[in-house]
Amino acid sequence: VSLSTADRESRLAEARRVCQERGVPLTNQRRAVLQALLDRDDHPTADALYEVVVHDLPQISRATVYRSLDALVELGLAARVSHPGSATRFDPTVRRHHHLICDRCGAILDLEDPTLDRIPLPDTRPAGFRARDYSVQVRGLCERCTGGG
Ligand SMILES: [Zn+2]
Ligand SMILES: [Zn+2]
Repeated sequence: VSLSTADRESRLAEARRVCQERGVPLTNQRRAVLQALLDRDDHPTADALYEVVVHDLPQISRATVYRSLDALVELGLAARVSHPGSATRFDPTVRRHHHLICDRCGAILDLEDPTLDRIPLPDTRPAGFRARDYSVQVRGLCERCTGGG
């Protein structure tokens, strides 16, 4: 789901507040990367975001975009979406939600489902692991790849 202008502004304000609280600068580069991510609902790769950001900041390097994304994830302003065998994708939505993943083209779509939001976290403490959150990935074929729509 694409963000409205108001949502986008409030996410940027949140980013400024979080950076201030954590005492880290919201650099031009980080802001540009976050803005580019907020404009997308297709869970872009770091390289796809670089292609967008470099239009506004021609001096920016791929490495800076990668580091900016790491910083945004660390600050809780963006999330990583990973599935085996493909490049890490980034998500502007950090609250719990789920994904539909196309096996053929790799498209990732958001899935909001209150039923999936209520799965109890397993008690894995005997293994020394503390579950914090989860996200369900539903695999299949997207509308384009099934030829429908
Ligand atoms: Zn597909
Ligand atoms: Zn998502």
